[in-house]
Amino acid sequence: MNCKEVLERIYKEIASKENKGAIATYIPELAKVNPDNFGVCFLSVNNEEHGVGDWQTKFSIQSISKVLALSFAYKTFGDEIWERVGVEPSGTPFNSLVQLESDNGIPRNPFMNSGAMVISDMLVSHLENPKEDFLNYVREICGSDQIQYSEAVAKSEASVGYRNKALCNFIKSFGNIENDPNEVLDFYFHKCAIEMSCQELSKTFLFLANHDFRTTKGKKVLSTSKSKRINAIMQTCGFYDESGEFSFKVGLPGKSGVGGGIVAVYPGKYCITVWSPKLNEKGNSYRGMQFLETFTTETELSIF
Ligand code: GLU
Repeated sequence: MNCKEVLERIYKEIASKENKGAIATYIPELAKVNPDNFGVCFLSVNNEEHGVGDWQTKFSIQSISKVLALSFAYKTFGDEIWERVGVEPSGTPFNSLVQLESDNGIPRNPFMNSGAMVISDMLVSHLENPKEDFLNYVREICGSDQIQYSEAVAKSEASVGYRNKALCNFIKSFGNIENDPNEVLDFYFHKCAIEMSCQELSKTFLFLANHDFRTTKGKKVLSTSKSKRINAIMQTCGFYDESGEFSFKVGLPGKSGVGGGIVAVYPGKYCITVWSPKLNEKGNSYRGMQFLETFTTETELSIF
């Protein structure tokens, strides 16, 4: 199979069809993005790299950063993190508050906003300079010092983040947030406001696909067992209340963000990132879902 050819053909096919969905305008700064941006980067564990379209343009990675924050916290605290956050799919939207009341402030999983707040709280407790230290952690895994927060996006989200503020304060009322909610939220908003390209994301997430789970530079980020578990959570919880659908149609562990990015990995084989800002009604990239479904169906490169 000529992977480059397949990627380019699918890209053209999808780019010629109607681009449905809507940009996430609830964060005003995200509304400024060009809805027609569309990029793909495939990177195999043998370093075969193919990029199509806007694959080197940076965008707001949003919830994709939740995987990186989880891996940082998992490495630091080990299995004690599961006392404060679960590993079950929630079946509810990413910013839902409903289950927290009956679950006594223990979020169902680390990829919903509530779970990511708890993970953020752990990192805020542990790190001397949380924002700086986290950015350095991401840069190291990616092997690039060109990764930054967008202060404009972080500020924009904070200015309208009433739901996230409610979530964080609500969890605090159950005792599952240790720090001042404002400090946790500031870290959380910045973490979501990291900007990366498809190329940078594929390089970063390759550690979850690589043999022995190492970065492109050969560094072990997490133990084999912990890396396997991160992939398992991406498989079951990576796409909000569309996680089952993504598993069904694409068949890979992955994570999406409301900036329109999707990263997916095939352990032992490759990592692929797609970016197209228009989202479907569940908050996942419309073209991203379409692209990955077509790609894994045609190439049979899905884990199932
Ligand atoms: N910063 C976004 C929020 O908290 C992240 C949502 C997402 O990408 O799923 O609303």
